[in-house]
Formats: sequence, structure tokens, C-alpha cells
Amino acid sequence: MHVGIVGAGQLGRMLALAGYPLGVRCLFLDRNAETPGAQVAPSLIGDLEDAGRLAELASRSDVVTFDWENISGGALKPLEKITHVRPPRAALEVSQDRLAEKALFARLKIPVAAHAAIDSKQQLVAATQKIGLPGVLKTRRMGYDGKGQFVLREAAHIDRAWDAIGGTGLIYERFQAFSREVSLVGARSAAGNTVFYPLSDNTHGEGVLRFSIAPFTNVRLQRTAKLYAKRVMNVLEYIGVLAIEFFVVNGRLVANEMAPRVHNSGHWTIEGCITSQFENHLRAICDMPLGSTRPLGHTAMINFLGKMPDAKRLLAIEGLAFHDYGKEPRPGRKLGHCTILKRRSKDRNRALADALKLIEWA
Ligand code: AMP
Repeated sequence: MHVGIVGAGQLGRMLALAGYPLGVRCLFLDRNAETPGAQVAPSLIGDLEDAGRLAELASRSDVVTFDWENISGGALKPLEKITHVRPPRAALEVSQDRLAEKALFARLKIPVAAHAAIDSKQQLVAATQKIGLPGVLKTRRMGYDGKGQFVLREAAHIDRAWDAIGGTGLIYERFQAFSREVSLVGARSAAGNTVFYPLSDNTHGEGVLRFSIAPFTNVRLQRTAKLYAKRVMNVLEYIGVLAIEFFVVNGRLVANEMAPRVHNSGHWTIEGCITSQFENHLRAICDMPLGSTRPLGHTAMINFLGKMPDAKRLLAIEGLAFHDYGKEPRPGRKLGHCTILKRRSKDRNRALADALKLIEWA
């Protein structure tokens, strides 16, 4: 099988690595040759929305997928005449717009934060009065990892929020006083079979995932999250791995956003489950049976942001796996991660505390 991947970041790199044992050969498309993906598999060089390059990628692939979900639906559409595009374009398009995403969740009776579309400062003033404060003003499109967001705590800050990210195409949503943030990662095959990983408990800093602990065991929340994810997958006739991030508010799940791809909060599945999210994504899009999502123990995954830690000191922690994405350090950039796998949660927690002492987020 030949898989074309639009975008050659760390997600694409880990997909390509998971493909080798399956006999799946990946080919990337990205802007330059110095990408994490291009270090492990061949890459076409070109703009991610370049029609000629995309057509070449599609014609050399049994299926096209992406590690960057902001590619426009318009750029992908012609590829559907050449080969399979998986996950489907509809899933990509809905996840690109926070308003459309929330509308889909609401239609499927999945709770979301109270929100309003904002295209002017007057609408923002009205929304803060109707929905209340505090709230978060976000760009509807192209926002990720907390970028394009402003937390509004009082009405006096509206001007400041508007100066920071004001314009058209925004959304204002009620701030969620969550007890934790969790995510569900699952896969659906073309035949409609699904598998789901245990929930992951995610800690963010400045809008970026810092570390995840998994499995987060809560039978009720797991069941509900799975139900919600199945609704989304079925209505979109989804094929591949899908991730949904939730806030836990008063013991209930409130959906924040979804990603039509493998997800940072699922990296622990590489060492922590029988089949990783990367392998299951490939299995799903290549029409292979989905693999077991059974966890092998208790894990913690920690992101390396802005600065690589001392590998030797981290590797001295028993049960730790190290992942370097081969990127140039830049403030806030995701450069790698490590995963700790232990049989007992108590030992995992201790090793996590030891590892956190060796990691500095810059
Ligand atoms: P997002 O880009 O929507 O995933 O937001 C990044 C992070 O900002 C989330 O993981 C939360 O920690 C925080 N955040 C976003 N929206 C809200 C909200 N409505 N209420 C509380 N925290 C939020």
C-alpha cells in the first residue's frame, strides 16, 4: 500500500514509522525538505495546496491522508477523482471552523459551551451580556494550541480583546470551569467498525498540551465519550482516527473541539497500547482490520516544547521511551515527547514527577 500524506510534521513522521512493519509506504508533500517526515520517508516539495503537487501525490498513492488539517476542501476535492481521500473532506471542513464544529456537536446532542458568532465589536459586547463573563474570544479558523484566543474576564477588557484578535470570523464562548480536560481517540473503518482508546487526562499550559496521563479510568465518562464520538463518526461516514477534546464540568462532558487526525493526546498509545493510534489510522484508511486498543499499563506522555531536554538523563528513568522529531528548537515549538509506561499507576506517577524535573518548557 502507498499512502500520500499532506504535511510532513511529527504526526506524519510517526504515521510513516508505524507504516513500515505493515508494508505501508508513505510519501509526503510539504514545503521544504527539512521536515520531521522527510527524515524518515520520501517527500514531494511544494505548497500544501499546490494543485499540481497534490495531483502528483494522489496519483502515486492508494489513499491520501493529512497531518495538517487546515488544507482547504477546495484543494482536496479534485484528488477524490484520482484516489481515496481519508478521512473524508466533510470531516476536515467541519473541523476547520469552530462554529460549524459546535453546530455539528449540538445537532448530535453533544453538549457544547454557550457561544455566539462574532463579526464586530458590537456583537462581542452583546454576546458578553447574553452569554456572560468570563468567556473566550477565539478565531473560528486556523486557531490551534491556544493561538488566536483571548480570555475575557471583565467587560472592561473588551477593547483589549478586540485590539488583540478583533475582526470578522470570530466566536465567543462561555469560559468552562472544568475540573479536567480529557480526550477520546478512536478509529472507524470504511465498513463502519470502530475502536476507542481509553480516555486521556490532559494538562495544558498557555493553550498547549503539556502532558497527558492515560488511561484515565472513569467508566461513565468513557461510555459517554464513546457514544458521542460514534455519533460524529457515523454522521460523517468517517474513516481513520478521530480525536475529540472535552472539558469535564460538574462531572459532565462538554465537547471543545475535534481533530480529524491522529492527536497529540494519543501519542501514549505508541508504547501504551497493543496497537498505536498511528497504526490504527493506517489500518483504517488502508482497509485493514482495526487493531486492539487495549492498554498495556499506566502511562504518562510529556511534550518537549521549545527546548529539548537531556536525553540521557531522561532515558535513565526505567520504562521511559524518547521521541525526538528532528526539528529546530523555537519558542513553544513541539520538538518531541517522552512516554513512561509502568504496571502500577503509583509507579507511573512517581516516574512522571521525576521526568518533569528534567523538562523545561520554553
Ligand atoms: P482550543 O484551541 O480550543 O483547544 O483551546 C486551547 C485550550 O484553551 C484548551 O485546551 C483549554 O485549556 C483552554 N480553553 C479553550 N476554550 C476554553 C473555554 N471555553 N473555557 C475554558 N478554557 C478554555
